[in-house]
Amino acid sequence: MKFFQNVKAKLLPLAAVSVLTAGIFTGIEFQQAEKADAKKQDKNEIRNVIVMIGDGMGTPYINAYRSLKNNGKTPNDMKLTEFDPNLTGMMMTYPDDPDYNITDSAAAGTALSTGVKTYNNAIGVNKNKKRVKSVLEEAKEQGKSTGLVATSEINHATPAAYGAHNESRKNMNQIANSYFDDKINGKQKIDVLLGGGKTYFNRKDRNLTEEFKKTGYSYVTTKRELKKDKNKQLLGLFADGGLAKALDRDSQTPSLEDMTSSAIDRLNQNKKGFFLMVEGSQIDWAAHENDVVGAMSEVKDFEKAYKAAIQFAKKDKHTLVIATADHTTGGFTIGANGEKNWHAKPILAAKRTPEFMAKKIAEGKPAKDVLTRYTDLTFTAEEIKTVEAAAQADQDKGAYKSITKLFNTRSNSGWTSTDHTGEEVPVYAYGPGKEKFAGLINNTDQAKKIFKILKTGK
Ligand SMILES: [Zn+2]
Repeated sequence: MKFFQNVKAKLLPLAAVSVLTAGIFTGIEFQQAEKADAKKQDKNEIRNVIVMIGDGMGTPYINAYRSLKNNGKTPNDMKLTEFDPNLTGMMMTYPDDPDYNITDSAAAGTALSTGVKTYNNAIGVNKNKKRVKSVLEEAKEQGKSTGLVATSEINHATPAAYGAHNESRKNMNQIANSYFDDKINGKQKIDVLLGGGKTYFNRKDRNLTEEFKKTGYSYVTTKRELKKDKNKQLLGLFADGGLAKALDRDSQTPSLEDMTSSAIDRLNQNKKGFFLMVEGSQIDWAAHENDVVGAMSEVKDFEKAYKAAIQFAKKDKHTLVIATADHTTGGFTIGANGEKNWHAKPILAAKRTPEFMAKKIAEGKPAKDVLTRYTDLTFTAEEIKTVEAAAQADQDKGAYKSITKLFNTRSNSGWTSTDHTGEEVPVYAYGPGKEKFAGLINNTDQAKKIFKILKTGK
């Protein structure tokens, strides 16, 4: 204390006001405050990092969505998407797997979150199944607040890669447990968790929602509860599995934008800053089904969330927002069937996704009524017959596949696969440090750059 009093005396009168009003003030605290002051003066300091992952969102999805945004007009003189102005480069996504050279979401998520390439299915572990630190964990160690937001189960591959370590993405109960059990400095490492997956958190063998509540988290399950709650630590689970697709959601299910804004509001209360990962999870799910309507519904949901993050970053000036895809899915093409035209209008004419329409048919509603009610299109008797026959032949997926095909034919949307494909994906960066993400980068580079930013603020 004596030593410190000397320091204090030397610094008077400049620091006198702050030191005296602070009351008891140790030397270490003073040094920290001094550092914080120096940082405050640094206009380019990056305090917050928001990573947004459109799962499966390769460049054709943005291209197609741009047409939808322009009400199906031709590519001439089109309004851009919210992503477009921030394009900085492209990213390679391949995994380090003995059997595959195209990644899954787990290996891609791990590369993006830890900077280490690994095998498909791996969650936050390297090839030897050893835990590797994620950028979310680094942020927590630095005293920042942290959050995960997704429209899938919140313990699904991509968010899991940021918040857990497991040899397989399939161990979803274990991953949910990790969110509670894995601690940094004796406390839970993820402050805000918003998404789906109730069944993994309320189980016979364990009630994680109760355990979270006991440590001071709020637990919410509807949009209204989400908006009302003000707690800094929050678990929000809005569906048993994944959330419904945006086009099919009811009024009590939050949008990705609702969840993103709620997360930012809370995390931003930490003066040291925050790290947030937001995933538009189901672009990929629709793409696996070659469902252009479902995919566009989810790109739109993701774009709105992205816009909210950018608006926050614009005001804040110390927030870096990176948006990208973990891989692309389905080999989606703008144009198919040997024609030089792609049409957005039939996709815009869908009021619900083919998945939703197929469910109605499975419930016993006639295909004709369903297609008439949930689209603005007219279908031929032959087309309706095809849907009916498909629904009968395969009760599980027949109607879904068949309705999806109607939209693909009308829009000339092409698909080459029902799995992921290996093309490079776009990278969009906004805010201080965005130039670091320029050119062709590897998915591991993203994490490496973010680790450095979290450690140094630049
Ligand atoms: Zn993925």
